[in-house]
Amino acid sequence: MSKRPDVKTETTESDQESNWNVFLSELESRVGQFQFQIFGSHLDYSRPDNTTLEILVPRNFHKEWLQEKQQNEFYNSVERAYGEEIDVIITVTESTTDSSSSSDKNNLNKTKNNINESKRFPFAESNDFNPDHTFENFIVGDCNEYAYSAAKAISEDPANSFNPLFVYGGVGLGKTHLLNAIAHQVKTNWDQANVKCINAEQFTNEIINAIRESNTKDFKYNYRNVDMFLVDDVQFLAKTDAAQEEFYHTFNELYEKGKGTVFCSDSPPEEISKIEERLRSRFGMGLTVDIQPPGYETRMAILQKKAESEDLTIPDEVIHYIADNIQDNVRKLESCLTRLGMKASLSETPITVEMAQNELDDLISASGTGTDRVVTIDEIQSIIAEHFDLSISDLTSKKRTRAIAEPRQLAMFLARKQTNASYSDIGDMFGGRDHSTVMHAQEKIESLLDEEPDSEICSHLRTLREKIQAGPDQ
Ligand code: ADP
Ligand code: MG
Repeated sequence: MSKRPDVKTETTESDQESNWNVFLSELESRVGQFQFQIFGSHLDYSRPDNTTLEILVPRNFHKEWLQEKQQNEFYNSVERAYGEEIDVIITVTESTTDSSSSSDKNNLNKTKNNINESKRFPFAESNDFNPDHTFENFIVGDCNEYAYSAAKAISEDPANSFNPLFVYGGVGLGKTHLLNAIAHQVKTNWDQANVKCINAEQFTNEIINAIRESNTKDFKYNYRNVDMFLVDDVQFLAKTDAAQEEFYHTFNELYEKGKGTVFCSDSPPEEISKIEERLRSRFGMGLTVDIQPPGYETRMAILQKKAESEDLTIPDEVIHYIADNIQDNVRKLESCLTRLGMKASLSETPITVEMAQNELDDLISASGTGTDRVVTIDEIQSIIAEHFDLSISDLTSKKRTRAIAEPRQLAMFLARKQTNASYSDIGDMFGGRDHSTVMHAQEKIESLLDEEPDSEICSHLRTLREKIQAGPDQ
């Protein structure tokens, strides 16, 4: 292979290091800081010979990112740093579970020292994060790898990361786990750091108490001297104006001081109902990532890892049986194992598929996947139309009489609760309505459920839920 005249036959270690740094800064300037934080900062290299650059990436999605998503940016950056004649190979170094690559550790140490020197705080938060919720115990799959990488990136460089990181996804998919993992990691890296990891409900209760006792000073001191602010279930803030107000100012102050913030929620910022616009826009101004329900492989990996860590002897076919039947929620996967573990130990018999079929019946049917039945908006519409003796075209029409508008709102509410459709998708299915109309329907039904659970409309709702659960024609 011909070599460019300016490529030396023998490159020294410091040449190699400086080429690599040129490559990294080229890449960062081309892909932008956010993406580089998640992907680029995890790269390492080796030089098997002078004409080959081996790029070491922790996981397959880093490789895909380089070779597919950022192909041009990647190859142009290589060319700028190494010239045209270099052969590039990309090697994936890690598997599903986490362990930091050597370059991570280098980066970490650099930042760690910086922050340790600059940050000394009057008090450190108690270290009572869930001990099992660490990055090491988190199984990474297609469903959660962006959220995982972003969480790792922010815990390794909180001050310079995207801010805020906003993670959303359905129940039991690992949001709280990731939040705790960030807390652990930051505390491990900087033991002096003041890390606050709370649920928005706790924040709300504390501010309400502080106002009641006319003592908001301590509250403010507590929350505004935080280095890493991790707030779970931020959708709960919507319940009180005082919490939203205080949260807004807390966030602004921390943001201005350059502190790291991570928020979790059950929906993306634009879809959290009843939240003030100014908070919604704050939530969405950093990096927003979602967690999807785990695919089959990931469910298997999670079950295997949990069984191993709980010392459960469980045959493969039982693991397959659970992974086949519980698809939407990791917490339910765990409950299956716990239940089987207890049953096996009480009855002193081994775990079998038959035992699983008997013991997990309710979990499997509640998960809605036992018969592989997926609820669609169409189906919800026809169940509701039939129940109220209307036609589907009434539900999708512009008519606003109460006899039609209320069932329509119920249908939108149920579509939101029982399918994965977004507000806009639902609006489209109801005669091209705006997402805010669907949001309004949801808010209305939610407040009825809160305030008038015995009302006629709530009783219809309970019946409709049962009908939907049972499926059509039953
Ligand atoms: P969420 O906050 O999204 O409702 P959690 O974080 O509470 O969900 O997760 C529910 C349970 O499932 C926890 O015990 C958590 O440890 C576990 N879990 C979720 N995702 C994963 C994963 N990817 N790997 C391992 N355990 C997971
Ligand atoms: Mg949670």
